[in-house]
Amino acid sequence: MRNSKGSLMRPDPLPHSASHPVVTPLSPSVVYASETPDALDDQYEGRVHGYTYSREGHPNADVVAKRLDAMEGMSGGVVTGSGMAAVSAVLLGLTKTGDHVIGGNQLYGRSLRLMKEDLPRLGIETSLADPADIAAVRAAIRPETKMILVETVSNPTLAVADIDGLSALCKETGILLVVDNTFTTPRGFQPFDHGADIVIHSITKLLAGHSDVMLGYVVARDPALNERLSVFSVTTGMTPSPFDCWLAERGMLSFELRFERSQATAAALADHLAGMPGVKRVIYPTRKDHPDHDRAMDLLKGQGCNMVSFELEGGRAAANAFTRAADGLNFAPTLGDVGTTLSHPASSSHRALTPEERAGLGLSEGFFRVSVGLEDPAALLAVFSEAVAAAAAS
Ligand SMILES: *Cc1c(COP(=O)(O)O)cnc(C)c1O
Repeated sequence: MRNSKGSLMRPDPLPHSASHPVVTPLSPSVVYASETPDALDDQYEGRVHGYTYSREGHPNADVVAKRLDAMEGMSGGVVTGSGMAAVSAVLLGLTKTGDHVIGGNQLYGRSLRLMKEDLPRLGIETSLADPADIAAVRAAIRPETKMILVETVSNPTLAVADIDGLSALCKETGILLVVDNTFTTPRGFQPFDHGADIVIHSITKLLAGHSDVMLGYVVARDPALNERLSVFSVTTGMTPSPFDCWLAERGMLSFELRFERSQATAAALADHLAGMPGVKRVIYPTRKDHPDHDRAMDLLKGQGCNMVSFELEGGRAAANAFTRAADGLNFAPTLGDVGTTLSHPASSSHRALTPEERAGLGLSEGFFRVSVGLEDPAALLAVFSEAVAAAAAS
């Protein structure tokens, strides 16, 4: 093994150190060499732990998975190359032709697309229902219904799903309850405490937090489902890159602090906007005027999230004036970044809908979703004051 001749034989051994690194080392190796065929048998047959080929698993992914497992209070979670890979692993890896899947009617856009286009193509029928309306979800259930996929707080209208009602319904009917916990994060909401069977995250958002990594995660209560999710993600090549996992771990070290700060600022921003001329309405889960206020207080334990949505008076012209005047805030379709970002559903995430469909969701040309970051709260409110005033004057 030793490369003593300075040839191309690998590896060069790392210099020995009696002390150890305080940061998780990055392990980009695709392959792992074994001592003997017997040693490889021990590994494959589970007598010892070891890596073989990084699509099948690598140390940096395992470090991130363990950290998220601890946050969600489960074990055996799988890290995937994106949040959508995690959604796909659940929807495609745990269903078969003839099954039926129910989705929340305001799921993340690509999750909706998977439900509407790809599952039906494979003979898996789907229905959408309002996850706050248990009677509507119950009415959508068929004998073949396998799972219900919902987000706790919806994008971008911040409606709060009736998770307890859904979990009671799923228990009664033997259907899996899958919760995409990206918006709320494990710090804001614990789906397994409320009867969820599977939890999904886009780590890309608040967990990694710096808009420089794309990763996802999925974990099930049932170890047999975790095994199936893991095998499916390895087979279909959903495995994440070690460097992305390494970056995500670094981001996650400050996640709790970032969450506290951004959600406190978001709550202040919601109240600030609500008092401003030119603002038609503000949506924030823990505000008294939120339609699901009581449920939000209960599920989110009195705290909100880092997202605030609001509607400006006036149409596209006001929206243009607003983003132009929102000095230093990126008008960009992401969330959970260290910097505050603005999203305008009518021109981005929901542009494929007809104006009537958008109106049905309350998404007018003046509607914005704000992902609140870590800026100085007073400075941030001042930027919003100026930008809303510019919109009102347009
Ligand atoms: C972003 C997002 C996803 C998809 O995650 P990616 O990492 O972008 O693939 C899924 N669900 C929700 C709620 C999201 O916000």
